[in-house]
Amino acid sequence: MAKMSRLQKAKRSFRNSKKWKDFRHKIHIKQGGIDPITQKKLYKGCNLHHRHVTANEEEYGDISNEDDYVMLNKSIHQMLHEIYRYWKNDHSILDRIEEELRLWH
Ligand SMILES: [Zn+2]
Repeated sequence: MAKMSRLQKAKRSFRNSKKWKDFRHKIHIKQGGIDPITQKKLYKGCNLHHRHVTANEEEYGDISNEDDYVMLNKSIHQMLHEIYRYWKNDHSILDRIEEELRLWH
């Protein structure tokens, strides 16, 4: 396994804290146990995504703004991260994805 950066280590230890677990639970309840993208139930393995994706080490653990977080099912979470890599430079990727999907049958 690749050596973890300081930021990755800080993130991992924060995610193991009780503070983080309690916060996860709070957001889960707030969303009514629903994944906002698929509108399906959140299931085991869902992820609390930090919308401040460029957060540094100090900013990462800041849970004072609940609106910076969203609980997503695992596959949707991964998909959004993947799309975001392209979308941040070119929003029209969403149009092309839709255009492609419309051709699927
Ligand atoms: Zn995420």
